[in-house]
Amino acid sequence: MTEINHHIPDDVLDTYRAGTLPHAFAVVVAAHLSLCDECRARIEAADMIGGVLLNGAEGVALRAGARDRMMAALDAPPPPPLPRGSGVFPAPVMAELGGQPPKWRMLGGGIRQQILSADREGSLRLLYIPPGRAVPEHGHRGMELTLVLQGSFSDSEGAFHRGDVEAAHDAIDHQPIAGAGAPCICLAATDAPLRFHALVPRLLQPIFRI
Ligand SMILES: [Zn+2]
Repeated sequence: MTEINHHIPDDVLDTYRAGTLPHAFAVVVAAHLSLCDECRARIEAADMIGGVLLNGAEGVALRAGARDRMMAALDAPPPPPLPRGSGVFPAPVMAELGGQPPKWRMLGGGIRQQILSADREGSLRLLYIPPGRAVPEHGHRGMELTLVLQGSFSDSEGAFHRGDVEAAHDAIDHQPIAGAGAPCICLAATDAPLRFHALVPRLLQPIFRI
């Protein structure tokens, strides 16, 4: 397993722990956690500190019915198991794929994508970029979180390999280029339409459906 050099930023991890990260981003974090011992340890340490603080807290009276609801939740059947990881796709990605291989849609230039989910809070897609191919240069109005699942890409921020995450915000204008070797497959969450510079990519934007 290659070493992971680019991790989930602290604020994103905290929001994920709090359970308030939009779905698209939460899936990227979960997929990274499934590949990264270091970030799993960070989460466990933070949860442990939270538990200690909770244990030290004064007892608080439960609201009426809270105990019954808690006991009912404990009795409820467990949720169905997540699909297992398959090939380069970790379990959280396979869950989004419904346990099936990706159904790629051609975007031109050999680039393919599958949109996994899209709502007001963000969209989640898989991207397939042939070796040496550039993703159209773009800036961001919001945040983009990209996890490499296969191959690599590099841009002004560095080189990203399997397991690495790039958190790009609206200050970054970048043009990722897929590395040589295996095609680059990434999982990308965005919270606002990407802003492409060239005319043709702008025409492609409705196809990207971001
Ligand atoms: Zn990590």
